[in-house]
Amino acid sequence: MSERVGFVGLGAIGRPMAVHLVKAFDTMVWNRTFDGAQAFAQENGSKVADNLAELVSWADVVITCLPTSVEVREVLESVAGQWRIGQLVVDATSGDPGESRSLAEWLRQKGVGFVDAPVSGGTGGAEAGELTSMLGGETAEVERAKLVVAPYSKMIVHVGPVGTAHALKAVNNALLAVNIQAAGEGLAALVKLGVRAQTALDVINASSGRSNVSENLIPERVITRAWPRTFRLALLDKDVGIALKVLQDTGVPADAIGTAKQSLAAARATLGEAADHVELIREIEKAAGVEIQ
Ligand code: NDP
Repeated sequence: MSERVGFVGLGAIGRPMAVHLVKAFDTMVWNRTFDGAQAFAQENGSKVADNLAELVSWADVVITCLPTSVEVREVLESVAGQWRIGQLVVDATSGDPGESRSLAEWLRQKGVGFVDAPVSGGTGGAEAGELTSMLGGETAEVERAKLVVAPYSKMIVHVGPVGTAHALKAVNNALLAVNIQAAGEGLAALVKLGVRAQTALDVINASSGRSNVSENLIPERVITRAWPRTFRLALLDKDVGIALKVLQDTGVPADAIGTAKQSLAAARATLGEAADHVELIREIEKAAGVEIQ
């Protein structure tokens, strides 16, 4: 029997993920700002819930894709009386491992399963239905979740118990942050020496310093001066904060990741909540007095 899927959080990445779900499952959406959900339903032919209780009463599986675990807890607890035995929550938020373990326990007492299921691949990957989904949870629940995340995923990996997928996602994004900062700083220096940024990237991308930042983000967003807003710097700051906590909890030194966290927090204070993550490089450019071009 096909699952009824409820989707909560039609933001920058949630919305394109939900487009793929509608094609595969009977889907109902809910969004804090109702207009967004209504427009989505009209465009994509899904059901739309007026309130969360309606969605949770109807769905077999509820996918959440919210900024942080704080909003996930708010949402799940706001309908505490609606959950029923046999349902499954699949949390696609880039969340906090400890919070996820605690939420999983709270849901378990109601007979509801929980799988942390963060994604990587960005909004482009979501539009193409080619995200990587990392899953944390018990095997039977993960197997059920795999079928539900499949429409928007190219790669699906069971990482370990609840919380481990959120930990892995945070570490991945900490690497992204370190790469953005290091590439921004290094390229700013090279441009000041008179090297064209594209020339430097051509060499780096044929060498051992290459990364997604040097291969894609800087050529497409910085050199072009396009600075599109697809993934908020505030969310990357949140992710690196989670990674720092993971390192602290496991007793691992966090020099590089700690520095990236400080830089992101400073950029967030200056650029605000709507800025894109790559705009960290704008702050490096300002401090260096140069544009990476
Ligand atoms: P956005 O900020 O674009 O969207 C956030 C969504 O959460 C919106 O639907 C918003 O509703 C809703 N929301 C915010 N606060 C609340 C609340 N208190 N109660 C209920 N709903 C709320 O975020 P993204 O879509 O970019 O990111 C979602 C998650 O996915 C984050 O954890 C992020 O780190 C992760 N992620 C994002 C990627 C990206 O490229 N954007 C890539 C990989 C992971 P409303 O419309 O009313 O504002």
